[in-house]
Amino acid sequence: MKPMLELKNVSHVYVNEKEASLAIDSLELAVLPGEFVSLVGPSGCGKTTILSLLAGLFPPAQGEVLYAGQPVSGPSNKLGYMLQQDYLFPWRTIRDNALIGLEIMGRKTPQACRAVDDLLDEMGLAGTADRYPHELSGGMRQRVALVRTLASDPEVLLLDEPFSALDMHIKLQLEDLVQRTLRRLNKTAILVTHDLAEAAAMSDRVILLGRRPGRIRQIFDIPLDIRRLLPTEARRDPGFQDIFDSIWEELEAEDGKEGADV
Ligand code: ADP
Ligand code: MG
Repeated sequence: MKPMLELKNVSHVYVNEKEASLAIDSLELAVLPGEFVSLVGPSGCGKTTILSLLAGLFPPAQGEVLYAGQPVSGPSNKLGYMLQQDYLFPWRTIRDNALIGLEIMGRKTPQACRAVDDLLDEMGLAGTADRYPHELSGGMRQRVALVRTLASDPEVLLLDEPFSALDMHIKLQLEDLVQRTLRRLNKTAILVTHDLAEAAAMSDRVILLGRRPGRIRQIFDIPLDIRRLLPTEARRDPGFQDIFDSIWEELEAEDGKEGADV
């Protein structure tokens, strides 16, 4: 199978008036179609930079970023982004917020509107379409953000800590919902999270990054029998703790070396 996303020998330098800093160094990464990969590591190790490069927000200082074998030259509607903040527009209804991407692309057809209403129903948001963001809870708003991301039917979802502002039980529900939905639609996903259990429970592979500059420290393949489970089930699986512990130990080893500030 050919990779959906590839980083080939990618380095990135941020430059300002005072200095240039190497954010990621000689990174190699390939993500297969339908794969769910998580990026974990201490804050500042380059996770968001990697997503931004994949999204084509800016080019890398060195190396190649490929989507379906082609160089990424700018933002594309094949890639959808979901962030910690939902960025819903307060003056737009839930339906109009969910439709905004399609509207911008000139694809807001009656058919697309119906598809978005169906997605809202599937996400447990039936009856909210004509309401406004302030009337919804944080978990509901984040589900609207997911519908908005899925509405334009991207092949790849880039998820930058989308659950980290939510209460624990809402977060667990949403992890299941997102994984189930992405699997059903056969989407490829890259999740950035500081929650190691979330990474282990949701992913096929967990990539631990080290910092200064960002590089891959270790890759953890999640066993097949755990991958098949929903995240809430995976967390309860007898084999789960071992996986969690091995990622944790590796992360701790790095922190011990450089001073903790995850
Ligand atoms: P993470 O998402 O893992 O916390 P980032 O990708 O945001 O890490 O940042 C990686 C490194 O690059 C950090 O040292 C950060 O300070 C630096 N950095 C990120 N964005 C910028 C920017 N726009 N300008 C300068 N430095 C940046
Ligand atoms: Mg980040």
